[in-house]
Amino acid sequence: RDLTERRKDESRMQELQAELVHVARLSAMGEMASSLAHEVNQPLSAIVNYLSGARRLLSDPSVKNLSLIETAFEGAADQALRAGDIIRRLRQFVSRGKVAHQGDSLSEIVGDAVGLGLVGSHRQNVALRIDPLADRVVCDRIQVQQVLVNLMRNAIEAMQGSDRRELVVASARAQRDMVEVSVSDTGPGLPEDVAQRLFEPFVTSKPTGMGVGLSICRTIVESHGGRIWSEQRPEGGCVFRFTLPQEA
Ligand code: ADP
Repeated sequence: RDLTERRKDESRMQELQAELVHVARLSAMGEMASSLAHEVNQPLSAIVNYLSGARRLLSDPSVKNLSLIETAFEGAADQALRAGDIIRRLRQFVSRGKVAHQGDSLSEIVGDAVGLGLVGSHRQNVALRIDPLADRVVCDRIQVQQVLVNLMRNAIEAMQGSDRRELVVASARAQRDMVEVSVSDTGPGLPEDVAQRLFEPFVTSKPTGMGVGLSICRTIVESHGGRIWSEQRPEGGCVFRFTLPQEA
């Protein structure tokens, strides 16, 4: 009976943890809402421009060349797909599916996370580089995206005052059949008082920060059997690394 009780407690703990991780995801999304609205608005305005251009061409009797109109339609269709992509990523990100660890493509996961994490950063001139990624991993893709979005947004925020703004996402094979993913920036590096307790909850150097981002990242990574840590880069800035199991 003791064992049954313990199992019950454990599964209750796991449910609570999944709930916490989901709430953190919703809250991260809330912070990004206005940038996201802006991001969806861009393709919508482009569609309006393409279509009004096409209408002008159609109503002009001197225009004989239909290929211009075709190009405008293609442009509008591309932009509609782009808007749809943003919405698709968003919906998946806020969804509350069952946590499922399965074989997945790291480059696809990173691709979707970049689409969300870099929202609003174009105006800040952040250069992104994605190094070739070691591919198959076993994970819950939405939770890993959550980790990546968190790390990328911290990095972008840290680089606000820097002259060089380079964000690099890379991966490499690690020991014991793990894959190591890294997110590095060219910001000022970690504040000393924060560095020691980085992954503890409520540790923040930001006036309006909650300091829960990295502690949630650690919860997620550890629930995958991996670990997460950070290093100062000799050339300035910092790099966050975490490991995930490689698919057999
Ligand atoms: P929050 O972003 O709400 O402060 P986090 O847990 O995500 O919470 O981050 C905790 C602290 O770690 C931040 O306040 C910041 O001081 C530091 N930090 C995190 N990422 C970076 C980074 N890329 N460069 C410099 N400092 C960072």
